[in-house]
Amino acid sequence: EYDFTDRVERVSPSATLAISNKAAELEADGVDVVDLSVGEPDFDTPQNIKDAAEKALEAGETGYTPSSGIPGLKDAIADKLAADGLDQYGPENIMVTPGGKQALFELFQTLTQEGDEVVLLDPAWVSYEAMAKIAGADLERVDTAAHDFQLEPALDDLAETVSDETDLLVVNSPGNPHGAVYSDAALEGVRDLAVEHDFLVISDEIYKEITYDDVEVTSLGALDGMEDRTLTLNGFSKAYAMTGWRLGYFAAPESVVDQAGKVHGHSVSCATNFVQHAGIEALENTDEAVEEMCEAFEERRDFLVEEFESRGVEVSEPKGAFYMMLPVDDDDQAWCDAAISDAHVATVPGSAFGTPGYARISYANSKERLQEAIDRLEAEDLL
Ligand code: PLP
Repeated sequence: EYDFTDRVERVSPSATLAISNKAAELEADGVDVVDLSVGEPDFDTPQNIKDAAEKALEAGETGYTPSSGIPGLKDAIADKLAADGLDQYGPENIMVTPGGKQALFELFQTLTQEGDEVVLLDPAWVSYEAMAKIAGADLERVDTAAHDFQLEPALDDLAETVSDETDLLVVNSPGNPHGAVYSDAALEGVRDLAVEHDFLVISDEIYKEITYDDVEVTSLGALDGMEDRTLTLNGFSKAYAMTGWRLGYFAAPESVVDQAGKVHGHSVSCATNFVQHAGIEALENTDEAVEEMCEAFEERRDFLVEEFESRGVEVSEPKGAFYMMLPVDDDDQAWCDAAISDAHVATVPGSAFGTPGYARISYANSKERLQEAIDRLEAEDLL
């Protein structure tokens, strides 16, 4: 008998992990599973980044680094953010972390506690809820699924949900699990509400570099009035195909970095030394490889949207990230169970993201495998 804390007991295990486990079980039995449940690029990390890591290792960059990150990386991040219109951030405003997830975790630990109100826009990435709950916060949720996953038409609902009691809103554009990019008008609406009710906003921009149709993503913190209210989150996992390297960061007012530095210093100490050196190379010399990966994702998006539409299934066309929400039965859990058990296609139920009636499809997979998935779903009458 162990006496577990309330803070872990109020959190559910990751729904995405449950699917991966099921897929792994089937594969262990020799079944070929088309895995559309994963949240990572199917590409290898670009070679120049690997070379930079190797060079750093050879040069003996193997010890602890300054807790908030090596100066060269923080400078490179500040330059990248300034290029995105976020010129309020200098190196002193940046915390380099082992993955964007850790950056978010530190922000929640630093800024929210028992009784605080956190607002999410559904469908929302699964870990926001878990992190808010671990911190003890209460959640309010605003649905965007009814509006094609756009925020602008959901602003009235957001205005009705937030109040002077609200402490934090999380915005994620391009978003996981839907790939929608929020309009400037939507972001301005968020700004007006944040100023009116004096709350902070986490802008999770981890998919900012992965967009289609020449869409540009505005950084929330670049809007007048949001400079000191925005906590900007990004990382290297998605844009540079570096999920396993664990490297991310947040940028925030200096006092937030200082306070979060206690959580950071007493938990992870610092991000991995030679990985930080590779991060500089990623930011400075990898534009071409990022563009090539984006082009591949865009082709696959076009392919899937067309394939679904030719079968009478209307999907909201994603403008970024590498996910789309496929409308399925109301009982999305049952649909996803059938998809994996009968068609051997792994997807994630929308209800895991707060939006039943959909399955999240990751198209970070080859066209051949996407075609195979469609054929199998069709053969099992799931499309
Ligand atoms: N934010 C969103 C919306 C994500 O989908 C993810 C990864 O799945 C992350 C943040 C964190 O990624 P990482 O910890 O690999 O940087």
